[in-house]
Amino acid sequence: MLCNMCPRRCNVDRDETLGACGCGSEISVSRTVRHFWEEPCISGKNGSGAIFFSGCNLKCIYCQNYSISRGIVGKELSKSEFQSLLMNISESGAHNINLVTPTHFTMQIAEALSEIKSDLKIPIVWNTSGYETEESIEALKGLVDIFLCDVKYFSDEFAVEYSHAPNYFGYAKKAIEKMVSITGKPTYDDNGLMKSGVILRHLVLPGGRHDSESILTELAHISDSVVLSLMCQYTPTPSVESHKLLSRRVASLEYNHAVKCANKLGFNGYIQDKTSAKSEYTPDFEEKWDFVY
Ligand code: SF4
Repeated sequence: MLCNMCPRRCNVDRDETLGACGCGSEISVSRTVRHFWEEPCISGKNGSGAIFFSGCNLKCIYCQNYSISRGIVGKELSKSEFQSLLMNISESGAHNINLVTPTHFTMQIAEALSEIKSDLKIPIVWNTSGYETEESIEALKGLVDIFLCDVKYFSDEFAVEYSHAPNYFGYAKKAIEKMVSITGKPTYDDNGLMKSGVILRHLVLPGGRHDSESILTELAHISDSVVLSLMCQYTPTPSVESHKLLSRRVASLEYNHAVKCANKLGFNGYIQDKTSAKSEYTPDFEEKWDFVY
């Protein structure tokens, strides 16, 4: 089958060749780990059971997880191996199964989940860059409980230069509206852990304060249906050390402007404390599997 799973619409047969995401048709996983650095309603006390997929359909030039997003590290799993991994995490005491950068395996994951979803005891989190099609999100209806979705850029200039992703915001906005229509407003268990809903995560970028404002303004109509997670942990990587904007961290003025806009527009959720933005939030990707299949 030709792959048009994400807005890149490569129209390639991934059994024969690789698309822009750098992956063939088999699910490929870089790492599984108990992850404690997501938002508190996801990580809780016990952590989130994260599965990091290899490859990425966005490939930002400042990517913090370069080795996995370029598909450099990873193991291919058959459908039954992947299902065993999901069951293993479900029994592990983690609060949820956190599928990180899953977009380019949407159909494979949906097929695997559809056969065992009723046996899984914890919510499924779709942890995505937001570069999604509405059809792909629709295919996850009844299978995914929580969408943890980045919203990266409003301006096409940033989207094209930083991620080679024309019309990023146009796609992300439609995908996010579809996510909200699927999950409804957030719901929580008695311990404050999210059971269903949409978390919108926005990393404020250096030089991006007007972009952040535009993103928030354009999504203000769903501000009471989502949890906003505003982040300031951007860290320059060697790949952008000479870039005019991306070579520095976010200034307080820029981040505070985004915080002010979020408050004014009626968003609720998490605002990262600038002093808490640490490199530990980025797991290293030496081969290490906390959960096995
Ligand atoms: S999932 Fe990969 S191959 Fe398919 S359209 Fe997207 S980038 Fe191309």
